[in-house]
Amino acid sequence: MGVGNDQRQSAFFADEADLGGGADGPFAGVVFNRPMDQVYTYRIPEKFLQAVTPGQRVRVPLGRGNQPAVGYCVRVDELAPEGLDTKRLKDLIEVLDDPPLIDAGMLELTRWMAGYYACSWGQALDAVVPAGVKKQAGMRMGTYLTVSDEGRQALDTQNLPPKQAEALGILTRSDEPLTIADLCRMANCAQSLIGTLRQKGYVRSIKRRVRTKVDDDPAPTSDAEAAKARPALTGEQEAVMARLTPALDGDDFATFLVHGVTGSGKTEVYLSAIERVVARGREAIVLVPEISLTPQTIRRFRRRFAKVAVLHSHLSDAERHRHWRSIAAGEVQVVVGARSAVFAPARRLGLIVIDEEHESTFKQETVPRYHARDVAVKRAQLERVPILLGSATPAMETWRNAELGRYVHLPMTQRVGSRPMPGVELIDLRHERLPLGGLSEPLRQAMKTALSEEGQVILLLNRRGFHTFVICPNPRCNQVLKCDSCDVALTYHKNRRVLICHTCDAEKQRPPTCPHCQAANLHYGGIGTERLEREVETAFPEYVSRRMDSDTMRTPGSHEQVLSAFRSGEIKILLGTQMIAKGLDFPNVTLVGVVNADTALHMPDFRAAERTFQLVAQVAGRTGRGDKPGRVLVQTFAPEHHAIAFAAKHDYEGFVQTELPYRREMGMPPYGRLMRLIARGPDEPAVRVYFEQLADALRTAAPPGVTIQGPAPAPVTKIRNLFRYHLRMRCDSPRPLQILWQNVAPTMPPPGEIELAIDVDPVNLL
Ligand code: ADP
Ligand code: ZN
Repeated sequence: MGVGNDQRQSAFFADEADLGGGADGPFAGVVFNRPMDQVYTYRIPEKFLQAVTPGQRVRVPLGRGNQPAVGYCVRVDELAPEGLDTKRLKDLIEVLDDPPLIDAGMLELTRWMAGYYACSWGQALDAVVPAGVKKQAGMRMGTYLTVSDEGRQALDTQNLPPKQAEALGILTRSDEPLTIADLCRMANCAQSLIGTLRQKGYVRSIKRRVRTKVDDDPAPTSDAEAAKARPALTGEQEAVMARLTPALDGDDFATFLVHGVTGSGKTEVYLSAIERVVARGREAIVLVPEISLTPQTIRRFRRRFAKVAVLHSHLSDAERHRHWRSIAAGEVQVVVGARSAVFAPARRLGLIVIDEEHESTFKQETVPRYHARDVAVKRAQLERVPILLGSATPAMETWRNAELGRYVHLPMTQRVGSRPMPGVELIDLRHERLPLGGLSEPLRQAMKTALSEEGQVILLLNRRGFHTFVICPNPRCNQVLKCDSCDVALTYHKNRRVLICHTCDAEKQRPPTCPHCQAANLHYGGIGTERLEREVETAFPEYVSRRMDSDTMRTPGSHEQVLSAFRSGEIKILLGTQMIAKGLDFPNVTLVGVVNADTALHMPDFRAAERTFQLVAQVAGRTGRGDKPGRVLVQTFAPEHHAIAFAAKHDYEGFVQTELPYRREMGMPPYGRLMRLIARGPDEPAVRVYFEQLADALRTAAPPGVTIQGPAPAPVTKIRNLFRYHLRMRCDSPRPLQILWQNVAPTMPPPGEIELAIDVDPVNLL
């Protein structure tokens, strides 16, 4: 036993004497990635006394059968929690991580998440650590030598035989872990010499994981443009920076809403703000929607900072693990990534930036169902750093927080270089013929003009496939063809000649007749991106067009490839789903056409108008970004709808002033908080009965101010053969909902085959 251990022991016994005995700790509190609320207490066996710290994963026996399970150690206490019979506590079996994966700040953040998002602490912790880190991907287990304290002492004070001293010296100084073979080679000695050192207790063998040698490190960026001076800030950018600077130089939490129209230079503000914190040795985390993790964005960050880690979804486990380690080791200045990058283990955090904060992809739709923006604000608060939320079209929740003074509103109303906002014209589809499918005559004419003037065109249609529905022509049947396992209409994909369910991805051959009434000549209708592509190719054969949607962008890199061909001007017409609506900055785009602005407008979702407004405003922002003015044509059946009318005028505040009163009237966010419960199971009546009972229990227990809406079948009533019901709890503030659910949940566990999901601040209501 080492010296350190002995000291620890005696100190411990002294403590125990002071306490009058009784405890035989210390004890580890452990949580699991399961829906179990408690922190379980384990005894720490002597051999681990020094090894166990909060934030490590440990292996412990769990349940009646004492099955070994992996959990997260969240605390180490000298005393067991009150009321526990310490005699009956089980021993911890193994410590899995050294050093700990999770630091104290992240422990606190995940504990908050568990409380707020109604999941267990272990579930929240498990979301924080990427799979590659848990698996130690790219690492291998080996036996390595270390110098003991005695060895170090001997080296300093004793006159050891030169060969032994040399070997010990090499081992002491080595940064890398060394195996016996390594050391023999480096010290040019025989294995028996190491044996002697071992016998004397000067060196010991330990098993540990080390990184396998890989050459996949990207070379340090030496972008030719790196040398290019940063642009002088515009007046508005200067004004925003002046407001931010005290916070960037300070040590306090503050939330800023950088509310700038598309092209106003928000990204430049983020870069300047990050420079400021990096200059004082701090690190920044930048969250962007996955869709914006384009080479273009990444280049902008790499050009300005030497050490940038980009966490995108195509990383291998080993790469992810390597990034995690280097971030935790302080080797990274800026982390850029999608949702889960909010948990990047930056230890000297100085700033968090959320770009396009209104994007719904920041919400995770599996447990823990967290919203990365809100988690980021919490993290910033816990770590006392500023956070910037950037958007041209802030979420209503964010806007409201700014109105209430919780967030500092920093407007940017002008485009860089005084470029005008593009003119938006609405095309009323109630009065226009669509001769070929999707493009009205005015839109075709506009395309023709833009293309003949050497401009480029973006066409947005937020629907994949060729025909978006297939319907029986028999008036007495008239059924829409649906997926066999979902309550969802099938989409016809002509390229692959199959019907596809966009919910479960099931594929089906085209039936010759209606499956319900056997009528012949099924009618194919609706227009998706595949059909639009065909139409564009027919109408503009002399210009290269390309479709960008999740069908054509399956392979990693295809996104980049198309975008760079568009940038170079090789592609003239880019058409696709919302993938093309966001964040792109191509100066030569002079026309944007929205083929159907109404696709999201009639969804059974209180945010339908907001989503529509955002999408139209964002895609309109893709034009007029260069020297040529831009033009936007929006085809719609609802030109008077406030979502579309205000988007056409680039009038965010006009939209907000019309939208918010509806929300207030309905008690919907941002005026109320929602907790949505979804139950699903194979037997519809069982699901319904369970939810009726649950709703009764909730109503009985609900304090004043909490209302229970439902239960009702969910808008999509069946997915993968599971029937779905939902109910909503609403209140003006989140706390009563959390308490109500904490009280009722244990009394109403879902029976056998029913799964229950709890969604706090739900984004998806289908
Ligand atoms: P946003 O993020 O608000 O849409 P960007 O930061 O992408 O705006 O800026 C729009 C365009 O203006 C980009 O091409 C960017 O390089 C350029 N830009 C931004 N700030 C400046 C500046 N101060 N001087 C010159 N060009 C700028
Ligand atoms: Zn399906």
